Amino acid sequence: MSDVKVLLDESEIPTHWYNVVADMKNPPAPPLGPDGKPVSPEMMMAIFPGNILEQEMSAQRWIPIPEPVREIYRLWRPSPLCRARRLEQALGTPAKIYYKYEGVSPAGSHKPNSAVAQAYFNKQAGINRLTTETGAGQWGSSLALAGQMFGMEVRIYMVKVSYQQKPFRRSMMQTWGAEVLASPTNLTNAGRAILEKDPNNPGSLGIAISEAVEEAASRKDTNYALGSVLNHVLLHQTVIGLEAKKQFAKIGEYPDMVFAPCGGGSNFGGAAFPFLADAAAGRKVRAVAVEPTSCPTLTKGHYAYDFGDQSGYTPLMLMYTLGHDFMPPSIHAGGLRYHGDSPLVSQLYKEGIIEAVAVPQIATFEAGVRFARSEGIIPAPESCHAIRAVIDEALRCKQSGEPKTLFFNLSGHGHFDMAAYDKYFAGELEDYEYPEEEIRNALERLPKVAA
Ligand SMILES: *Cc1c(COP(=O)(O)O)cnc(C)c1O
Repeated sequence: MSDVKVLLDESEIPTHWYNVVADMKNPPAPPLGPDGKPVSPEMMMAIFPGNILEQEMSAQRWIPIPEPVREIYRLWRPSPLCRARRLEQALGTPAKIYYKYEGVSPAGSHKPNSAVAQAYFNKQAGINRLTTETGAGQWGSSLALAGQMFGMEVRIYMVKVSYQQKPFRRSMMQTWGAEVLASPTNLTNAGRAILEKDPNNPGSLGIAISEAVEEAASRKDTNYALGSVLNHVLLHQTVIGLEAKKQFAKIGEYPDMVFAPCGGGSNFGGAAFPFLADAAAGRKVRAVAVEPTSCPTLTKGHYAYDFGDQSGYTPLMLMYTLGHDFMPPSIHAGGLRYHGDSPLVSQLYKEGIIEAVAVPQIATFEAGVRFARSEGIIPAPESCHAIRAVIDEALRCKQSGEPKTLFFNLSGHGHFDMAAYDKYFAGELEDYEYPEEEIRNALERLPKVAA
């Protein structure tokens, strides 16, 4: 019997993160302020520490992972690379399917890879308090964990409906010592303005971001942490792909294609960017970002400057976007409902370096259940998107007889998403294509920026 898992020693946890900017054809477009001029570092310094802003703007290929961060990574890293042989057999495909399992982290997803790094760099900069927002609770629980590891206070603005409907993620955050508030609150101007108009407002990610940013900007002892989209977050996530490359080298394999679900782009960037370094050096490897048809940012969005949040508080970023006022349909892959995408992922897509595909909701759950029934692990609804695309490719290999090596990032487990699986089994899920007309209309509402 050949092995299922390819494991690394703790000493093999990468010592540096990989910065894809060093291998990009064109420099990334700068974020712009409301006046259309590049934002000044001073503006960003109100909510982020200098060491993180340096990473955000760096073009250096390798950035050292501080030893205290590697120390925390050791609690669950290196994560296993697994061969999905039972799934291959169930599909009858000649393709080899490998996945990196990030659900082994305490929070159950890849998100702590950046949360731990962000908590550390803030602590180094003398900050002892962090705010953030969370929807379903994946990012909030990761930052709660990270704050606890470095003895920091963490306050989380959790979208009110999720606070009421997903009590167990809230319990996790509280177990790790964070304070969790149902947003909108009456503690911020942004929250009060909403509540005055509508005391029963259910909240949204956009409102929660506004509250967390407002508080961080107004307090000297407090900074803000974001769970995806920004360059430094994708940088931290490259431990995923860097470990995977070592694991493939151990067994003398190399993927033809790399897949990952793509919301804000952090786990996709983390898994795929280290392979793009090889692609830049001439090696053949394709990277595919997988998104929902209900939120088709890369495949159907506009490449334009847009705000990162609903209220228009953040700088403008050049990215694929469905418009900052995009109302996400209530699909169950909460982590994939963002209106924009990482500027780095967006630029690489625009330049034709990476690919993207959109898949409908019901087919993603069908793929997730198939995966669970052959490999055991119940994937997060977000991860099911990558599994769908991998299964589709494996079935194409079955047709063509090509023994491709397929690799995907299993970004998290679905243990807190069983209500969504229940709905799938009850036949209550719907497929939803985001209407072309809405996408055209969004173009008119994009902020005007001189090209
Ligand atoms: C948040 C999340 C995602 C999507 O976020 P990205 O920044 O695009 O990685 C994907 N999978 C899981 C399990 C998540 O929690």
